[in-house]
Amino acid sequence: MTKQTRILVTGAGGFIGHHLVKRLKAEGYWVRGVDVKPPEYESTAADEFDVVDLRNYDDCLHATRARIDQVYNLAADMGGIGYITASHADISRNNILINAHMLEASRVHSVGRFLFSSSACVYAGYKQISAEVSPLREEDAYPADPEPGYGWEKLFTEELCRYYRRDYKFETRIVRFHNVYGPLGTYAGGKEKAPAAISRKVALAEDGGEIEIWGDGEQTRSFMYIDDCVEGLVRLMASDYHDPLNLGTDRLVSINGLVDLITAIAGKRLVKRHDVSKPQGVRGRNSDNTRLLRTLHWEPGISLETGLEITYKWIESELCHAKGPALAYSARAAG
Ligand code: NAD
Repeated sequence: MTKQTRILVTGAGGFIGHHLVKRLKAEGYWVRGVDVKPPEYESTAADEFDVVDLRNYDDCLHATRARIDQVYNLAADMGGIGYITASHADISRNNILINAHMLEASRVHSVGRFLFSSSACVYAGYKQISAEVSPLREEDAYPADPEPGYGWEKLFTEELCRYYRRDYKFETRIVRFHNVYGPLGTYAGGKEKAPAAISRKVALAEDGGEIEIWGDGEQTRSFMYIDDCVEGLVRLMASDYHDPLNLGTDRLVSINGLVDLITAIAGKRLVKRHDVSKPQGVRGRNSDNTRLLRTLHWEPGISLETGLEITYKWIESELCHAKGPALAYSARAAG
């Protein structure tokens, strides 16, 4: 990749896309960002930013115009477990349209490399029934039993990437993210993920008060800080590897454990109130990084304590600046 490389980031108004644009610009590349909305918390660093709806093929052709060398396809209709559980039809349809049209427009415009952002939600549910889950290897996505809706469309698009590679010799990369968190990500409104939702609840709670946790809190996950995520993305794009690759940490933490870490950072003592009627997703999920290490000679290294401290402090300061109604909504909204 040379400094003249022209890069398109879709979903550049979103969490990972915005951070990735900043990183690529800091390295001197020419970057176009596209999204249905600009970034929420600071302005984009991209050379060009187009507001488009990538469910439309013509918008995808527009986004990939004028010699694009690499596409990071991060645009998706997605959110935390509450959001992806509530709208299977809309999420599946929106994302299938975005991905199918972005692949085809990129091929038509002779894009050199196309990276698809898949998810750990592709992994088979029957392999994630215990909190002490074995870390998931890439081959554990089959026989298929992914998360309804969101997981199925991610798994299908992985296949679509393979078909494009086989039929058109189109260069694709496929990353399976495991729970990315960090500052400048959604922390309220229903689309936020667990680290942001818990940070918001802890920041809003009075010391000695209580916070609501979805499920019994014994469900487990691994979490990756945004800077590691961006580093892994850039490394994968530069590599020759075209099969799906995990990108996450392999430190398994329960949601109760995550709450304890965040309350310690906040310096608060809080009582956990568990609401088992709320969705909690699979019982346990962790990343096996054997293939990641073998392929990229690297794995995420930023500790959960370090990443959560930065994230919590950013959310706390955002809430301090929030106006009345937004703050009241944030306090009520679960996630
Ligand atoms: P995000 O919601 O912050 O960003 C996605 C962006 O896509 C949003 O800004 C949204 O406006 C945009 N978008 C949605 N529909 C669009 C459309 N029709 N046209 C154009 N843009 C549209 O999410 P994120 O956390 O930055 O996730 C980026 C990618 O990584 C997504 O593909 C997501 O599925 C995947 N992923 C993320 C995580 C995670 O933990 N954050 C985990 C697994 C997979």
